[in-house]
Amino acid sequence: MKTHETDIFIVGAGPVGLMCAYLANLCGLNFKIADKSKSPIDVGRADALNARSLQLLEIARLFNELYPMGKPCNTSSIWSKGAFLSRQSAWWDELEGCFHKHFLMLGQSFIEKALDEKLNKSGHSVQREAEVKDIEIVDDQYLVTLSNGDLIKSKYLIGTDGSRSFVRQRFQVPFQITRPKIIWAVVDGVIETDFPKVPEIIVFQNETSDVAWIPREGKIDRFYVQMESKDFSFKDALVKIKKALEPREIIFKEIIWFSQFSVKESVAEKFCINNQIFLAGDSCHIHSVNGGQGLNTGLGDAFNLIWKLNMVIKHNVTKNILSTYEEERKPVAMSVVETSGELVRATKFSKEGTHAKDYVEIIQRRSGHITGMGIRYGDAGLRGQRLFDFEVIKNQSKTRIYSLLDYTKFTLLVFSEVDVEIQLPEFVQMIHIYPNDIKNCYWTTNKQYNNQIVLVRPDSYIEDTAPAFSSEQSIKNIIRCCLDARK
Ligand SMILES: Cc1cc2nc3c(=O)[nH]c(=O)nc-3n(C[C@H](O)[C@H](O)[C@H](O)COP(=O)(O)OP(=O)(O)OC[C@H]3O[C@@H](n4cnc5c(N)ncnc54)[C@H](O)[C@@H]3O)c2cc1C
Repeated sequence: MKTHETDIFIVGAGPVGLMCAYLANLCGLNFKIADKSKSPIDVGRADALNARSLQLLEIARLFNELYPMGKPCNTSSIWSKGAFLSRQSAWWDELEGCFHKHFLMLGQSFIEKALDEKLNKSGHSVQREAEVKDIEIVDDQYLVTLSNGDLIKSKYLIGTDGSRSFVRQRFQVPFQITRPKIIWAVVDGVIETDFPKVPEIIVFQNETSDVAWIPREGKIDRFYVQMESKDFSFKDALVKIKKALEPREIIFKEIIWFSQFSVKESVAEKFCINNQIFLAGDSCHIHSVNGGQGLNTGLGDAFNLIWKLNMVIKHNVTKNILSTYEEERKPVAMSVVETSGELVRATKFSKEGTHAKDYVEIIQRRSGHITGMGIRYGDAGLRGQRLFDFEVIKNQSKTRIYSLLDYTKFTLLVFSEVDVEIQLPEFVQMIHIYPNDIKNCYWTTNKQYNNQIVLVRPDSYIEDTAPAFSSEQSIKNIIRCCLDARK
């Protein structure tokens, strides 16, 4: 039997595995990906990309294709007794340094299909109907046996195989699950209603806030309905939807997807073993869908991990950089579980009986996670903060910082009127942005990073900064330090 060799083997081609594969391909890495399913999903599951994911898609050159397919939504509203009690979007409007201040309502299937197609076109198709059955450690590498008999030997292994992860279980990573006994029905359908249809997330305030209406792409709408037990039918869910919308009427002309989920919460004890095996997405964090963070957090994992593998495999950075994956992503996952946990419990329990109002207040308080924009690495200061996006101009043509970033490289942004001459390693691109209009050069009126040099990681978090008048040697030191520090 032939053994195929590769640097990275990705187990599972849900959205997170597909994104890992897409980014690995962008970086020119040697990888393989397999999934037990026949194809990407057609309907259902996650429904929204947050503002930070939209920025990440832009760096990965996916934004222009995906954005037009979705529906922007930045308002959370409360409906009670026949009228809107409140309609809020302040936490989106107040976001600084970003251009798409909203969720993009777009089903998981669109993201999976787009990525799957791109992998097909690039000649790195997902190996389908290939379940991982066994993983052995051989000579410090991983020998994977697939259900079709293929053997694959790889130096690195990424487990993006969902909440029941084979990889996680194979390597005995503890994953203690909390079950708060909250069950939801989810319906995607084509509806007819005399309710004032708006692109807003509406929570309906009854005795509990047991119905939420989520706008979706195209002609469909989604309803989440809290149920008393696992044993229910569509009709049972519909009774609750109808009651919530009263006195307005609603009928479902078509049901596209009807499913249920029992809320489960957990964060894996480890996201990384020996800097060689990594868990990402649902394989290392699960939680309630409230706040729409599951897919977004998984995509964040993929963007955090793959550039680090790229630096190690292609640019000889020491493997220690890989341990920052868990250091950075595990705290994010833990606070996501906290946020969604607080939200889902608010739908059931409220001291004053004001469930929907409490719910929207939690969204406001925890908006940093829900928009994705509050996520940072490290405690304070510019280091570890997301790079702000703003407009830059070249020869009267307007563009934005994020469209200049390149996921395969660090970017050294020089915000200064003084030229900087410097020889950089191949994994760093330099972009000089002047404070005034200079022919054939980028310039901006934005003062956010005025007179500073900002070294930006491939995933668009700030690695380090220095005054713009720093010597060539001190600029080189920033770059060397950021990578040497990890040796
Ligand atoms: C039933 C359900 C309903 C959901 N509803 C919502 C929702 O309404 N809103 C929301 O925001 N989120 C929802 N989610 C969560 C969201 O879908 C996940 O957060 C997201 O899919 C995580 O992506 P992932 O790639 O990490 O894992 P997954 O999407 O689970 O992908 C894992 C992949 O690994 C493959 N796989 C598993 N084991 C193996 C193996 N041994 N060998 C090969 N392949 C393997 C699977 O076939 C699958 O393709 C739902 C999830 C589920 C399961």
